[in-house]
Amino acid sequence: MKLYLSIALLFFLTEVTGQVHCQYPKNNDKRIENAVSFYKEYLDEFNNRGTPNYRDYWSEIDCKRRKIPDPIAFSISSEVPLYSFITEKTIFSVEVNATVVHLKTLFSVVDSLDNVTVFAITNHYIQSSDKGDALHFISPLEINKSNIQTTRNHNIRYHYPKSIVFDKSKSDAMLLQIRNFEKEWGFEPIDFDYFFAETQKNLAAMRGLDYVIGMQQNVPSGISFPDDKLIYCSGYGEGYFHEVLHLYLNPLYEKSPINHGMIYYLAGSIGYTFDELINRMNSYLLEYPETNLSNFEKLETRDNRLNIYNVITGLVAKIVYEKEGVSGLQRILKYKTMDEVFKSEFELEKKEWDSFLRSILKKYKTN
Ligand SMILES: [Zn+2]
Repeated sequence: MKLYLSIALLFFLTEVTGQVHCQYPKNNDKRIENAVSFYKEYLDEFNNRGTPNYRDYWSEIDCKRRKIPDPIAFSISSEVPLYSFITEKTIFSVEVNATVVHLKTLFSVVDSLDNVTVFAITNHYIQSSDKGDALHFISPLEINKSNIQTTRNHNIRYHYPKSIVFDKSKSDAMLLQIRNFEKEWGFEPIDFDYFFAETQKNLAAMRGLDYVIGMQQNVPSGISFPDDKLIYCSGYGEGYFHEVLHLYLNPLYEKSPINHGMIYYLAGSIGYTFDELINRMNSYLLEYPETNLSNFEKLETRDNRLNIYNVITGLVAKIVYEKEGVSGLQRILKYKTMDEVFKSEFELEKKEWDSFLRSILKKYKTN
């Protein structure tokens, strides 16, 4: 029975047909009715993994600026839009003024045991009209712009809450890292937008979210959109080099099983340097000695600040880089599987990975 229910839930989650509930006082205001049906139509476009033609919903300026003009759609994952995997969407507040209808929506999922998980509370702004005029969304970034300031430092346009004093030296230090990286790898500079705030909560607010799941975690975090040359990050100020590397490397190497781990190696992750992550991995192996690193690709971590897969693939990047530099990394980025990497680079079968990786981790331990 339980199995059946979980399969049903999975089906439900992946083939969402979209349920938009309205929970606000009705007052026959034509502008609200038009805006709500426009909004529902937009959400429906994401059903069954669909994508809307953003030009039908967003202004020409927003569409010119970004391939994905909606800063809320990919706020939880950069791959799956929030609107497409959430089953329950409840519009619970509507405000209207001369030019804008403002809708607040609760995005939640109810599982087979009736547990409710809240994923997000969002703000959508729709140009108001009581006639049949074509409507469009107004970006929350535009709505919130009186609280956001912008500073350009060479090829980076930083956007951040006015409460923050821009740290030029931190930005310069990252620019130096970027210039060195470009030189070593042969990349041309990329012009990009870098949104940041002190906390995930403040960053979410800039993007039009009152709440997003995981927001309370007080760890640095970021998400990058290489197609739009755009980064959102929090807790790391002006210097989140990790996310910048995604902008440069993902367009070429996103499919490589080693790409993300290599970024861990080159720039650390969630507030740790790669050396600190190696130390953390060593401590993890002491705490959980039964861990079999030959299965690192499928292991589930019991330390939510340690991504085992990325640390291990980062370790492989480190071994190769220290021997051969960037040309070695460019070679291993071409492999399609980790089996190929270990076989071709180290002549190792899967069952031998565990002892090999453990000895290398020990060698690189610094605490
Ligand atoms: Zn990353």
